[in-house]
Amino acid sequence: MADEQKPTRPGEYEVRRPQAKGLREALAPVAGFGVTFSSMFRPTVTEQYPRQKVPTKRRYHGRHQLNRYPDGLEKCIGCELCAWACPADAIYVEGADNADLPDGGHMSPGERYGRVYQINYLRCIFCGLCIEACPTRALTMTNEYELAGPTREGMIWEKQDLLAPLQERMLATPHPMVPGTSDTEYYRGEVSGPVAEQVEWVREHRPDDPTLPPEPTGPPPEVRRVTPTSGRSAGASARKAAR
Ligand code: SF4
Ligand code: SF4
Repeated sequence: MADEQKPTRPGEYEVRRPQAKGLREALAPVAGFGVTFSSMFRPTVTEQYPRQKVPTKRRYHGRHQLNRYPDGLEKCIGCELCAWACPADAIYVEGADNADLPDGGHMSPGERYGRVYQINYLRCIFCGLCIEACPTRALTMTNEYELAGPTREGMIWEKQDLLAPLQERMLATPHPMVPGTSDTEYYRGEVSGPVAEQVEWVREHRPDDPTLPPEPTGPPPEVRRVTPTSGRSAGASARKAAR
Protein backbone atom coordinates (compact mmCIF):
# COMPACT_ATOMS: atom_id res chain seq x y z
CA MET A 1 0.00 0.00 0.00
CA ALA A 2 1.39 3.41 -0.86
CA ASP A 3 2.23 5.76 1.95
CA GLU A 4 -0.59 8.20 2.62
CA GLN A 5 0.14 11.86 2.73
CA LYS A 6 -2.11 14.59 4.04
CA PRO A 7 -1.34 18.28 4.31
CA THR A 8 -0.78 19.52 7.85
CA ARG A 9 0.13 23.14 7.26
CA PRO A 10 0.30 24.78 3.84
CA GLY A 11 3.48 23.53 2.14
CA GLU A 12 4.06 20.62 4.61
CA TYR A 13 3.04 16.97 4.43
CA GLU A 14 2.79 14.28 7.08
CA VAL A 15 3.69 10.77 5.93
CA ARG A 16 1.50 8.03 7.40
CA ARG A 17 2.89 4.51 7.05
CA PRO A 18 0.62 1.43 7.09
CA GLN A 19 0.63 -0.21 10.55
CA ALA A 20 1.66 -3.92 10.89
CA LYS A 21 -1.03 -6.07 12.44
CA GLY A 22 -1.18 -9.45 14.23
CA LEU A 23 1.89 -11.75 13.81
CA ARG A 24 3.76 -9.19 11.71
CA GLU A 25 3.37 -6.67 14.48
CA ALA A 26 4.69 -9.19 17.03
CA LEU A 27 7.75 -10.10 14.92
CA ALA A 28 8.53 -6.57 13.81
CA PRO A 29 11.18 -5.88 16.52
CA VAL A 30 13.26 -8.95 15.50
CA ALA A 31 12.57 -8.88 11.77
CA GLY A 32 16.05 -7.48 11.15
CA PHE A 33 17.57 -10.74 12.42
CA GLY A 34 15.97 -12.71 9.58
CA VAL A 35 19.01 -12.39 7.37
CA THR A 36 21.28 -13.37 10.26
CA PHE A 37 19.29 -16.49 11.09
CA SER A 38 19.02 -17.62 7.47
CA SER A 39 22.83 -17.20 7.02
CA MET A 40 23.61 -19.26 10.14
CA PHE A 41 22.59 -22.48 8.43
CA ARG A 42 24.50 -21.94 5.17
CA PRO A 43 27.89 -23.65 4.64
CA THR A 44 30.83 -21.57 5.82
CA VAL A 45 33.11 -20.20 3.08
CA THR A 46 36.55 -19.26 4.41
CA GLU A 47 39.29 -18.84 1.82
CA GLN A 48 42.73 -19.75 3.18
CA TYR A 49 44.49 -17.06 1.17
CA PRO A 50 47.46 -16.77 0.61
CA ARG A 51 48.15 -20.43 1.46
CA GLN A 52 45.45 -21.57 -0.95
CA LYS A 53 44.69 -19.48 -3.99
CA VAL A 54 41.20 -19.79 -5.39
CA PRO A 55 41.14 -19.44 -9.19
CA THR A 56 39.37 -16.33 -10.38
CA LYS A 57 36.53 -16.28 -12.86
CA ARG A 58 37.83 -16.48 -16.41
CA ARG A 59 36.85 -12.90 -17.22
CA TYR A 60 38.27 -11.44 -14.00
CA HIS A 61 39.92 -8.06 -14.58
CA GLY A 62 43.49 -8.39 -13.29
CA ARG A 63 46.86 -7.03 -14.31
CA HIS A 64 47.24 -5.75 -17.87
CA GLN A 65 49.41 -7.34 -20.54
CA LEU A 66 50.86 -5.92 -23.75
CA ASN A 67 50.69 -8.67 -26.35
CA ARG A 68 52.93 -9.67 -29.26
CA TYR A 69 52.52 -11.12 -32.73
CA PRO A 70 53.83 -14.67 -33.35
CA ASP A 71 57.12 -13.35 -34.76
CA GLY A 72 57.76 -11.32 -31.59
CA LEU A 73 56.76 -7.85 -32.83
CA GLU A 74 54.70 -5.83 -30.36
CA LYS A 75 51.03 -5.24 -31.05
CA CYS A 76 51.01 -1.79 -29.42
CA ILE A 77 51.22 1.03 -31.95
CA GLY A 78 51.44 3.84 -29.40
CA CYS A 79 48.12 5.39 -30.46
CA GLU A 80 47.22 6.45 -26.87
CA LEU A 81 43.56 5.49 -27.27
CA CYS A 82 43.78 3.45 -24.06
CA ALA A 83 45.11 6.48 -22.18
CA TRP A 84 42.30 8.67 -23.48
CA ALA A 85 39.67 6.09 -22.56
CA CYS A 86 40.94 5.65 -18.99
CA PRO A 87 38.61 7.39 -16.50
CA ALA A 88 41.27 7.31 -13.77
CA ASP A 89 44.08 8.80 -15.88
CA ALA A 90 46.19 5.78 -14.98
CA ILE A 91 47.89 5.18 -18.36
CA TYR A 92 50.75 7.14 -19.89
CA VAL A 93 51.87 6.39 -23.45
CA GLU A 94 54.49 7.94 -25.69
CA GLY A 95 54.61 6.72 -29.29
CA ALA A 96 57.58 6.82 -31.65
CA ASP A 97 58.28 6.09 -35.33
CA ASN A 98 59.58 2.70 -36.39
CA ALA A 99 61.36 4.57 -39.20
CA ASP A 100 63.67 6.14 -36.59
CA LEU A 101 65.01 2.70 -35.59
CA PRO A 102 68.31 1.76 -37.28
CA ASP A 103 68.63 -0.53 -40.31
CA GLY A 104 64.92 -1.09 -40.95
CA GLY A 105 64.21 -2.65 -37.57
CA HIS A 106 60.67 -2.53 -36.20
CA MET A 107 59.24 -2.78 -32.71
CA SER A 108 55.71 -3.24 -34.10
CA PRO A 109 54.20 -3.61 -37.58
CA GLY A 110 53.36 -0.33 -39.35
CA GLU A 111 54.54 3.19 -38.66
CA ARG A 112 54.41 3.62 -34.89
CA TYR A 113 55.18 1.78 -31.70
CA GLY A 114 54.76 2.47 -28.00
CA ARG A 115 58.13 3.78 -26.81
CA VAL A 116 56.94 4.51 -23.27
CA TYR A 117 54.04 2.68 -21.68
CA GLN A 118 53.11 3.03 -18.01
CA ILE A 119 50.13 1.99 -15.91
CA ASN A 120 49.75 3.47 -12.44
CA TYR A 121 48.17 0.76 -10.31
CA LEU A 122 47.55 3.22 -7.50
CA ARG A 123 44.97 4.82 -9.79
CA CYS A 124 43.65 1.93 -11.86
CA ILE A 125 40.14 0.78 -10.94
CA PHE A 126 40.27 -2.27 -13.27
CA CYS A 127 37.23 -1.15 -15.23
CA GLY A 128 38.58 -2.51 -18.54
CA LEU A 129 37.70 0.55 -20.64
CA CYS A 130 41.29 0.73 -21.87
CA ILE A 131 41.23 -2.75 -23.36
CA GLU A 132 37.92 -1.99 -25.06
CA ALA A 133 39.50 1.07 -26.68
CA CYS A 134 42.62 -0.70 -28.00
CA PRO A 135 42.33 -1.08 -31.80
CA THR A 136 44.94 -3.85 -32.15
CA ARG A 137 44.11 -6.03 -29.11
CA ALA A 138 47.58 -5.12 -27.88
CA LEU A 139 46.24 -4.49 -24.38
CA THR A 140 44.36 -7.22 -22.53
CA MET A 141 43.86 -8.07 -18.87
CA THR A 142 45.15 -11.18 -17.17
CA ASN A 143 43.68 -12.90 -14.09
CA GLU A 144 46.64 -11.91 -11.93
CA TYR A 145 45.53 -9.98 -8.85
CA GLU A 146 48.57 -9.91 -6.55
CA LEU A 147 49.60 -6.35 -7.27
CA ALA A 148 50.40 -4.91 -3.85
CA GLY A 149 53.80 -3.32 -3.32
CA PRO A 150 55.77 -1.54 -0.62
CA THR A 151 56.51 1.68 -2.55
CA ARG A 152 54.43 4.12 -4.56
CA GLU A 153 57.03 4.13 -7.36
CA GLY A 154 56.82 0.36 -7.63
CA MET A 155 53.11 0.57 -8.33
CA ILE A 156 53.81 2.32 -11.64
CA TRP A 157 54.36 -0.58 -14.03
CA GLU A 158 56.58 0.11 -17.02
CA LYS A 159 56.41 -1.35 -20.52
CA GLN A 160 58.93 -4.10 -19.75
CA ASP A 161 56.78 -5.19 -16.78
CA LEU A 162 53.64 -5.37 -18.89
CA LEU A 163 54.99 -6.93 -22.11
CA ALA A 164 54.01 -10.55 -22.70
CA PRO A 165 57.04 -12.85 -22.45
CA LEU A 166 58.54 -14.12 -25.70
CA GLN A 167 57.10 -17.52 -26.59
CA GLU A 168 59.02 -20.29 -28.28
CA ARG A 169 60.21 -19.28 -31.80
CA MET A 170 59.51 -15.58 -31.20
CA LEU A 171 62.37 -13.19 -31.94
CA ALA A 172 63.19 -10.31 -29.60
CA THR A 173 62.54 -6.85 -31.03
CA PRO A 174 63.61 -4.85 -32.91
CA HIS A 175 63.65 -6.73 -36.20
CA PRO A 176 62.06 -6.16 -39.64
CA MET A 177 58.52 -7.20 -40.50
CA VAL A 178 57.91 -10.35 -42.55
CA PRO A 179 58.92 -9.32 -46.12
CA GLY A 180 56.00 -8.51 -48.37
CA THR A 181 53.57 -7.85 -45.51
CA SER A 182 51.98 -4.73 -44.12
CA ASP A 183 50.37 -4.15 -40.74
CA THR A 184 47.10 -5.39 -42.27
CA GLU A 185 48.41 -8.95 -42.66
CA TYR A 186 49.59 -8.86 -39.06
CA TYR A 187 46.16 -7.66 -37.82
CA ARG A 188 44.48 -10.44 -39.78
CA GLY A 189 46.63 -13.09 -38.13
CA GLU A 190 48.34 -14.09 -41.37
CA VAL A 191 51.83 -14.16 -39.85
CA SER A 192 52.51 -17.45 -38.08
CA GLY A 193 56.10 -16.85 -36.91
CA PRO A 194 59.49 -15.40 -37.84
CA VAL A 195 60.78 -16.10 -41.34
CA ALA A 196 64.38 -16.76 -42.41
CA GLU A 197 64.97 -13.11 -43.42
CA GLN A 198 64.06 -11.89 -39.96
CA VAL A 199 66.28 -14.51 -38.30
CA GLU A 200 69.18 -13.49 -40.56
CA TRP A 201 68.66 -9.81 -39.72
CA VAL A 202 68.81 -10.50 -36.00
CA ARG A 203 71.82 -12.81 -36.45
CA GLU A 204 73.62 -10.02 -38.27
CA HIS A 205 72.74 -7.23 -35.82
CA ARG A 206 72.63 -9.13 -32.51
CA PRO A 207 74.59 -12.38 -32.95
CA ASP A 208 74.35 -13.11 -29.21
CA ASP A 209 70.58 -12.66 -29.01
CA PRO A 210 69.29 -15.57 -26.89
CA THR A 211 66.05 -15.76 -28.87
CA LEU A 212 67.92 -16.74 -32.05
CA PRO A 213 67.35 -20.34 -33.14
CA PRO A 214 70.44 -22.59 -33.41
CA GLU A 215 72.46 -22.23 -36.61
CA PRO A 216 70.84 -24.41 -39.30
CA THR A 217 72.83 -27.48 -40.30
CA GLY A 218 70.59 -28.47 -43.22
CA PRO A 219 68.05 -26.59 -45.37
CA PRO A 220 66.13 -23.90 -43.39
CA PRO A 221 62.76 -25.02 -42.00
CA GLU A 222 59.80 -23.84 -44.01
CA VAL A 223 58.01 -20.95 -42.31
CA ARG A 224 54.83 -19.96 -44.01
CA ARG A 225 52.37 -17.14 -43.88
CA VAL A 226 48.94 -18.42 -42.98
CA THR A 227 46.28 -17.00 -45.25
CA PRO A 228 42.61 -17.19 -44.25
CA THR A 229 41.82 -19.31 -47.31
CA SER A 230 44.73 -21.76 -46.95
CA GLY A 231 43.14 -23.50 -43.95
CA ARG A 232 39.84 -23.92 -45.77
CA SER A 233 41.44 -25.19 -48.98
CA ALA A 234 43.63 -27.62 -47.01
CA GLY A 235 40.51 -28.92 -45.29
CA ALA A 236 38.69 -29.22 -48.62
CA SER A 237 41.63 -31.14 -50.16
CA ALA A 238 41.71 -33.49 -47.20
CA ARG A 239 37.97 -34.10 -47.47
CA LYS A 240 38.35 -34.66 -51.25
CA ALA A 241 41.16 -37.17 -50.70
CA ALA A 242 39.10 -38.99 -48.10
CA ARG A 243 36.20 -39.51 -50.52
S1 SF4 B 1 41.29 -0.74 -16.27
FE1 SF4 B 1 40.17 1.23 -16.26
S2 SF4 B 1 41.20 2.45 -14.71
FE2 SF4 B 1 42.59 0.75 -15.16
S3 SF4 B 1 43.97 1.57 -16.72
FE3 SF4 B 1 42.25 0.56 -17.81
S4 SF4 B 1 40.75 2.21 -18.20
FE4 SF4 B 1 42.19 2.95 -16.62
S1 SF4 C 1 47.76 -0.46 -25.92
FE1 SF4 C 1 46.38 -0.31 -27.69
S2 SF4 C 1 45.22 1.62 -27.37
FE2 SF4 C 1 47.02 1.67 -25.99
S3 SF4 C 1 48.59 2.78 -27.16
FE3 SF4 C 1 48.90 0.58 -27.53
S4 SF4 C 1 47.74 0.15 -29.43
FE4 SF4 C 1 47.01 2.12 -28.64
